[in-house]
Amino acid sequence: MQILLTIFFFLIGTALASFLNALMYRIDKEYKYPEIYTKPSYCEKCGKQLKWYDLIPILSYIFTKGKCSKCGYKITIYYPLSELILGISLSLFSLYHTQWYMYLILLTLFSLTYFDVLYKAIPKIPTLLFGVLGLIYLTILSIITKELVLNATVSGVLLLFGMCILLLVMYGFKNFKLKDGFEGFGGGDFVILLTLSMFLSTQQFWTMFWVSIFLATLFLLPNLILKKMHMKSSLPLLPFFTLGYIVVVIYGENIFEYVRGILMI
Ligand SMILES: [Zn+2]
Repeated sequence: MQILLTIFFFLIGTALASFLNALMYRIDKEYKYPEIYTKPSYCEKCGKQLKWYDLIPILSYIFTKGKCSKCGYKITIYYPLSELILGISLSLFSLYHTQWYMYLILLTLFSLTYFDVLYKAIPKIPTLLFGVLGLIYLTILSIITKELVLNATVSGVLLLFGMCILLLVMYGFKNFKLKDGFEGFGGGDFVILLTLSMFLSTQQFWTMFWVSIFLATLFLLPNLILKKMHMKSSLPLLPFFTLGYIVVVIYGENIFEYVRGILMI
């Protein structure tokens, strides 16, 4: 039974990823309602209307070898990769009986990641709304428990403060601007990190942060060595925060135990 449920969540995850990617694409291209839901999908270059089998998550990419069947336009690897990641994440979330709001946070991060990866900018309004949701969550928790719940918010503020100082030292006062777009560390990333600190425990938050940095470094190093990127290239960080979040929700406890074992505390 468990295996069936896991497969079910995997399929739901890939389908949701495909739906969210299409939705974000349409929001970005400023489709109007109801077109945003009703208009069929087209090839971006030649305008060929996509058939149902062109829309099957992951498999359609493999069958078409990542190209439009008419004009050969290359489809970004982001689509199948993100579908696979959301599929695996949701099936593992279900396996580890994750709380429902953790799924919502994941879907929000996933949707915002789309913009960060493809356009290197996180849209302002949804990012701020995410922040407001974090505040509402803390308020509700505080009302229920009758004491002020902050989760990792203090750590979040400290981290951002530390990062501001680091950026100031690195770039100086002149060039230091918090941009919502993406150049180095953008304002959007600050809001996302602060919001995550409202939802996560202190332990989860710091683990998420360092796992994200570790994964970003793993990605960056080979690219720097092979000279595909250079020190001034901008790297979208949100995908790594999202991956860090997934890892912590699923394996957080194991990581805490492991670190405790190493430090012998
Ligand atoms: Zn085409």
